[in-house]
Amino acid sequence: MDKHLARLAEIYKAIDNLYDAAMRHYNFSCEGCTDNCCVTKFYHHTNIEELYLAEGLERLDENKKKEVLSRAEDVVKIHNSSPEDVRVMCPLNENGICIIYEHRPMICRIHGVPYQMFKKNMSIEFGTGCYRFINEKLNENMQYFMFNRTVFYVEMVKVEKELRETLDITGDYKKTTAEMVVSILNPN
Ligand code: SF4
Repeated sequence: MDKHLARLAEIYKAIDNLYDAAMRHYNFSCEGCTDNCCVTKFYHHTNIEELYLAEGLERLDENKKKEVLSRAEDVVKIHNSSPEDVRVMCPLNENGICIIYEHRPMICRIHGVPYQMFKKNMSIEFGTGCYRFINEKLNENMQYFMFNRTVFYVEMVKVEKELRETLDITGDYKKTTAEMVVSILNPN
């Protein structure tokens, strides 16, 4: 198990390094942003990221775990009874800060700057970046910083495949962050 988590940590580090380089290139920052990305309903697609998040949650004290679980259950209820684009704060965000920052999932690390991604049918998807980036930086004179998400997704798929073989896991995986938290802290 540790070797899978270690490989995921390497992927996260590579993402963080490239993301930092992109932020420097664009002279862009999240500081003072009024549009907190943590209200976005992100989905995660791998068991390995849930295991990594579980490591982060394990470091919280018991009272904090109960608080987080309670918030996560509330968020799941809101998600389940609202339109898909509902915006509700992630249960792991306290006062604008992610309390498991070192263990946050891939999408939390990668969201924000423009990117490209090669699809299975060989088409290329381009993303324009977050709301603030579009408003403050996106213009025709902008020099694009090559941020190719494909390599990270490919590596993530490889780690997930090996984990599934090791633990004999089958079936699809698709959970929001709140659902992940509930699965980890209240597995019954
Ligand atoms: S896990 Fe952390 S960074 Fe990701 S949405 Fe939740 S609070 Fe924000």
